[in-house]
Amino acid sequence: MSAVNETLIRDVVAEVLGRLNGATTAPAPAATPVSACGCSGRKTFTATVPLRGQFGVFQDANEACAAAQEAFLQLSALGIAGRIKIVQLVKKITTDKAPEWGKLELDETKIGRLDHKIEKLTGLRAVPGVEFLHPTGFSGDHGITLEENAPFGVIGAITPSTHSIPTLACNMISMISAGNAIVFNPHPGAYKCAVTAARFLNEAIHRETGIENLACVINPPTLESFAAMSKNEWVRLICVTGGPGVVKAALASGKRAICAGPGNPPVLVDGTSPLDYAAKSIIFGAAYDNNLLCISEKEVFVLEPFFDQFMAAMEQQGAARLNSAQVERLTQAAFTFPPGQGAGCAKPSVNRDVLGRDATVLARLAGATVPAGTELLFAETNADHLFVEEEQMMPFLPIIRVKNVEEGIAAAKQAEHGFRHSAIIHSHDVATMTAMAKALDTTLFVKNGASVAGLGNGGEGYPNFSIATATGEGISNPRTFTRVRRCVMVGNLSIF
Ligand code: NAD
Repeated sequence: MSAVNETLIRDVVAEVLGRLNGATTAPAPAATPVSACGCSGRKTFTATVPLRGQFGVFQDANEACAAAQEAFLQLSALGIAGRIKIVQLVKKITTDKAPEWGKLELDETKIGRLDHKIEKLTGLRAVPGVEFLHPTGFSGDHGITLEENAPFGVIGAITPSTHSIPTLACNMISMISAGNAIVFNPHPGAYKCAVTAARFLNEAIHRETGIENLACVINPPTLESFAAMSKNEWVRLICVTGGPGVVKAALASGKRAICAGPGNPPVLVDGTSPLDYAAKSIIFGAAYDNNLLCISEKEVFVLEPFFDQFMAAMEQQGAARLNSAQVERLTQAAFTFPPGQGAGCAKPSVNRDVLGRDATVLARLAGATVPAGTELLFAETNADHLFVEEEQMMPFLPIIRVKNVEEGIAAAKQAEHGFRHSAIIHSHDVATMTAMAKALDTTLFVKNGASVAGLGNGGEGYPNFSIATATGEGISNPRTFTRVRRCVMVGNLSIF
């Protein structure tokens, strides 16, 4: 048997076994490298061996990047119509599969709520597509100029544990609309569901268009695979959705990075708007998916004269109030306290076993008895309480008494830590709204609604789960993932 035939047979066997067993048990790639992943032969892409991706699922980051580059070229050949077709397919499948994939994600991560996990997926229908790419034109005595939104090529994306499939699907809609292919390095605690969804979506895209690896996913993802993906020459842009660690890593990667980073959204209630409505909105936003959203209400500052009335309104609207001893017990359970005390010691960190759990579970940890179906716990705390300072992502809301608007805005600014992510106000005083907006300078500022209204759930505007706070692109959309290219015709084509 010739060497060529041996290689071919090994590849075919590996591919068949991989597809039968799933990517986690697929045989390791043969030693023959794909030339495009290395440092030689940079500009002329040729896959010298068949890419064994099993519909986008790769163990090796460099193979994934090379396959995505090939998919990018295939997508370019399909034109705008091809992108529209694929994006419609992604939206339809994600919506149809929402109950199944919502459960899959909850079973793997054990955080959040099934009803909201499903809603986050069905809501992706409203994520903008190719229609968002408006070219800009200039016309005058010197001719005509057009600025168009062109793709980058391959984008390396990181997704969080808090919404793994929604971020994957949302990124696919935005990035493919813009003409790109993607390689995902999902969160290690939420990667199996991402792999399942990506494989299913790639299979459907392949059936419809012949492109197999448009949205690749690394299985299993590791910090090393993130590093390899970021360094890969085909990756022209990084997009990370996660906490401070990954934002830092992306900005240090040497590539252009779009960073959807952490938040700790404060709410100010100044008493000039109805308190019942404020309480109802705050409960809806803070309890959404057990407070896993980065935009969710995380702490509430209420003006002293209205404090007691607001606390009563929270109870009337169905939230359960904890006393100070119960808050103390919950704090001990919700945070991990490193040994030692004082300057130089590590700060307490959020206990990931408690994050995103149901309010009834938190109540048990607090030693409180609450009615079944309680969605949110709340209590009065000081402004420097751990639950205020840390982005805790669980359905317990600390409420802080403040003397006046100035103190409330200053405390809200302090709690937001300069992330410039999200803030919420309940007020009918335009001057107070303006003062808070200017002081906090957040990417999202919701007035008189639940935080989720900022992503189109009860407010105007489109949704997305990658809110580029740290690098300033805002709530991402297809334009976020394009390069602006200018095309100039001198002296002609202008007709006015
Ligand atoms: P996380 O930071 O633990 O993980 C996010 C991703 O980054 C994961 O894929 C993880 O594997 C990876 N990661 C973490 N440190 C890394 C490093 N040093 N190098 C490479 N990769 C690294 O966050 P999480 O718990 O999954 O998600 C919650 C966090 O994400 C919160 O801070 C939340 O505010 C933020 N978030 C922000 C947005 C947004 O749009 N701005 C959306 C969702 C979540």
